[in-house]
Amino acid sequence: MKNPPFNYHRPASVDEALALLAEHGDEAKILAGGQSLLPIMALRLGRPEHVIDIGAIDELKAISVGDGDGVTIGAMVRHAEAEKSAEVSEHTPLVAAALPYVGHRAIRNRGTVVGSIAHADGAAEMPAVCLAIGATMHVASSTGSRQVAAADFFQGFFTTSIKANELLTAVHFPAQRATAGSTVVEISRRHGDYAMCGLACIIDAPGATIKSAALSFFGVASTAVRVAEAEAALIGQTPNDEAFGAAAAIVSNVLTPDDDIHATAAYRRHIAGVLTRRGLAQATSRIGVPT
Ligand code: FAD
Repeated sequence: MKNPPFNYHRPASVDEALALLAEHGDEAKILAGGQSLLPIMALRLGRPEHVIDIGAIDELKAISVGDGDGVTIGAMVRHAEAEKSAEVSEHTPLVAAALPYVGHRAIRNRGTVVGSIAHADGAAEMPAVCLAIGATMHVASSTGSRQVAAADFFQGFFTTSIKANELLTAVHFPAQRATAGSTVVEISRRHGDYAMCGLACIIDAPGATIKSAALSFFGVASTAVRVAEAEAALIGQTPNDEAFGAAAAIVSNVLTPDDDIHATAAYRRHIAGVLTRRGLAQATSRIGVPT
């Protein structure tokens, strides 16, 4: 299907994009890689009057590394570029682990990491990674800028705290601790499909005792969700099958997914437990191992 008619803007700078958002905010949509926006428009699920293409803004194309403080990914960094980045694998191995699961290579060649986060699909990998890591969103408007913690950013079904006049300019992922390991595990019908259930998982176990854990699920609710009860139960334990099994039982009990055409709620709860054991074991095996 063809897209409905719209006014196309291609600003050359962030300031220009923010001025366009200030003028057209409520009737405008940002176009980054277009891998979600264009299908939405073609299917008439969204009909923005103005499309603001940020693809020509060079200042949004950088992956930058702070002083041992992780990686900041700009709004026009495509999934494929982040996938190839040595900085991303070195400092934020969980982001690197998630990227190959985002759609197919053709989609990752166009789609952006930040676009995936702004889109806020509860079944997508990147929002769950943001919650697990504690990423910080850099948001700007023509009147100023602000930073939003991932925990406050994802508000519901395809809904974030970005306002109509704001642009998500970059996302900062703090560096993974040397005593931590992480992974992404998921179950989908075919590789590249959205997961029926998936888990972004970090375990920090200095001296073989679990100091902290993050269990961030996707595909089980309208947003990515962390299961705080299971994370708390892991703290102080030795990372082993028994501790992981206990956390898995809590996860299967706490999550309340819906039935849909892809899977029943009961099946999703079951595989969430399976993925908890699998993810925690895999993350533990990666402690101290470079990606
Ligand atoms: P766009 O499509 O350009 O934008 C998406 C939304 O975010 C729009 O509403 C847009 O206005 C907004 N937006 C984008 N950038 C910004 C910004 N900087 N500031 C404010 N708002 C912004 N995704 C997965 O996570 N996992 C999958 O398994 C998966 N499988 C897919 C399979 C297929 C066949 C397809 C077509 C897509 C799939 N996707 C999947 C979705 C896709 O990969 C991402 O949603 C997409 O890459 C988002 O990035 P984008 O740059 O293409 O965003």
